[in-house]
Amino acid sequence: MIASSDLISELKHRGASRVALQAPEGLKRRLSDIAEDLKSAGFTVFVSGDPCYGACDLDLDLLKDTDVLVHLGHAPVDGTDRVIYDIFRMDFDPGVVLNALPLFTTDRIGLVTTVQHVHLIPEVTRILEEAGVSVTVAEGTGRTPYPGQILGCSFEAARRTGTSEILYLGTGVFHPLGVQIATGARVIACDPYTKTIEEVNGERLLRRRYALIEKARQAEKIGILVSPKSGQARRDLATDLVSLSEKATLIQLREVTADQLLNLGLPCYVNTACPRLAYDDQVRWPVPVLTPQEFEILCGIRKFEEYEVDEIR
Ligand code: SF4
Repeated sequence: MIASSDLISELKHRGASRVALQAPEGLKRRLSDIAEDLKSAGFTVFVSGDPCYGACDLDLDLLKDTDVLVHLGHAPVDGTDRVIYDIFRMDFDPGVVLNALPLFTTDRIGLVTTVQHVHLIPEVTRILEEAGVSVTVAEGTGRTPYPGQILGCSFEAARRTGTSEILYLGTGVFHPLGVQIATGARVIACDPYTKTIEEVNGERLLRRRYALIEKARQAEKIGILVSPKSGQARRDLATDLVSLSEKATLIQLREVTADQLLNLGLPCYVNTACPRLAYDDQVRWPVPVLTPQEFEILCGIRKFEEYEVDEIR
């Protein structure tokens, strides 16, 4: 993370006097210390206290009243030149990846990770290649600006490896599942903190999604959720989707919560905001929340065999 002294120099260089600070939920507690340092250096500081889950959710309202928005924890998804992004690096022993080698059936693999670990990719690649494995690290999209970087809404850096087996380095199960469904490759997930190594298979998730689509067939009304968030607003997609069914209505919603879905009272929704809302959070929703591709299956314009994981490209 940028030292306060470097951040202060950058803000002075930009001629800023009013500064907004924003961080995702896990890093928010650090904001008050940074605010103190900036206030001591003469800046007027506003901390964004609203929920934030990614660089797709810049506090543009606060930016209207300030000169610069400092966004901690994520790489740029989009935004303006008035945003300073400061990714949060997390270190681990890169040698942990050698534990994954017995699970591969080939000596040519792809390598992907999340933004906190992208700085370790060169060292991890060197270790694997010394062990006799050829490693492909691919460029992603503008949403994932670092080679080998994936997001929960963008698996392009995995797809572009073109390899039949991929090593995912990082925590959690959603990212490697997304890589598996997006690429069809064998995916080995290595959690560098717990040192857990496992093959990840998306089949169970797909079976659950199939059951959800079948349940949604009974719905007589369907809400197409559209987000106003800077990097999640897929209005064109939403309007295309609403034209597929007379049952569908567009609904703009900033924060998707179970209470909001209950209050709106519809028996089924289609999510065009953060793709993880449909996949990760389905257990929290009172009714089926489909992805755009699943809605296309429901409407009969896509076969289930043509299933694609939802991404924001
Ligand atoms: S849309 Fe979702 S997965 Fe993509 S960056 Fe935002 S919070 Fe992360």
